[in-house]
Amino acid sequence: MAETADVVIIGGGIVGSSVAYHLSEQGCTDALILEREEKQGLGSTSKSMGGVRAQFATEINIRMSIYSIDFFSRFEEATGHTADYRAHGYCFAATRQSHLDYLRENQAKQRALGLDDARMISREEIVAMIPQLVADDIIGGSYCPTDGFVDPNGVMTGFAKRAKERGVRVRTNTEVTGINVANGRITGVRTSSGEIHTKVVVNAAGPWAANVARMAGAELPVQPLRRQIVKTQRCDFLPAKFPMLIDMSTGFHFRREGDSILLAWADDEETYGFQSAFTPEFIEKILTHAVVRVPQFADLPVNPKQCWAGMYEVSPDHHAIIGPAPEVKGLFYANGFSGHGVMHSPATGRITADLILHGRCDAIDASPLRVERFAEGRLLEETAVL
Ligand SMILES: Cc1cc2nc3c(=O)[nH]c(=O)nc-3n(C[C@H](O)[C@H](O)[C@H](O)COP(=O)(O)OP(=O)(O)OC[C@H]3O[C@@H](n4cnc5c(N)ncnc54)[C@H](O)[C@@H]3O)c2cc1C
Repeated sequence: MAETADVVIIGGGIVGSSVAYHLSEQGCTDALILEREEKQGLGSTSKSMGGVRAQFATEINIRMSIYSIDFFSRFEEATGHTADYRAHGYCFAATRQSHLDYLRENQAKQRALGLDDARMISREEIVAMIPQLVADDIIGGSYCPTDGFVDPNGVMTGFAKRAKERGVRVRTNTEVTGINVANGRITGVRTSSGEIHTKVVVNAAGPWAANVARMAGAELPVQPLRRQIVKTQRCDFLPAKFPMLIDMSTGFHFRREGDSILLAWADDEETYGFQSAFTPEFIEKILTHAVVRVPQFADLPVNPKQCWAGMYEVSPDHHAIIGPAPEVKGLFYANGFSGHGVMHSPATGRITADLILHGRCDAIDASPLRVERFAEGRLLEETAVL
């Protein structure tokens, strides 16, 4: 007899694990996570910079963040495992009046949605947090102290652990090779180790999501885009605690992780494709932006072997795609996070579980994230993309 499951989740990263947790939270424990790697988290999850922020420009992203950051703040209570949530804040540093206007406009939206902690700050306040910053051209910025960092692997582990304790099965070394569809409905999945009967499949395959959708005959506009992170050697000259600092003139941003500093910047020469090897030339490239803000970065050693690259899973409007696939009954998307999948994993799990079990989610209205928005020309515009 072929194995069965009420819900099959393809992909055991942070998103698949959160979906499993939230299904089990509501009593749906006959769920099965299928992960092709030998352990969970080897996809984008382990490559993340771990940043979480509610300082976004669109209502849906702000709502997803508020829900998720609240969840991170009580993660251990919910899952029995630490998320290592550090509320060190995010600070956007503006160098032009247009930046400040933009931040102010976003902040009005954030406050209207209940994010009372976000505020505009002066250059002096920014320099007080990071005295080593070259700030002559900084004219102010925005700051939210409840933004910060989590440990992505810790979050994934917590979600999966609690789901497993409740009966959810997690199977590694198992690749989904096909999805069975009859009369427009999901009937099962084919894997490297046999077939599983199910009526519900969640696509949580990260950068590989479009391939998984195609297995069911559906089109999902998600593309992989390489993203590189430079990790410095021990840094003593910057404070032990400071917010993620985003230089709005270039998009360069950095934060502390233990003894080291993580440097990040979106290289506009990257093109879509499955590419996740780190190229050492990137160190020179990012340093040209880094030393403008903190000249001491020029003397801080970097070991290329400790730097890394991974892939964003990018949707056409840089927003997640969450909800049922219109062409195939029983197929649900939890994809296209465009660099925000870690921070939005709690909200995504909740929305997806609610949509599967009840057909709607009252906690967060996720209808703007339906995949149909692309065909209908109702794209969202998120401009606060890092
Ligand atoms: C360099 C970098 C920095 C980032 N920084 C941040 C950040 O600061 N904050 C933030 O919120 N986000 C960040 N992100 C984005 C974040 O990492 C992702 O959005 C998130 O990890 C997506 O999680 P996921 O579970 O959907 O995907 P993944 O972690 O990629 O999991 C998908 C899983 O599906 C499995 N899979 C795929 N196909 C199949 C198949 N056919 N059968 C079985 N298994 C399959 C894969 O093996 C993989 O384990 C960053 C990403 C990168 C690359």
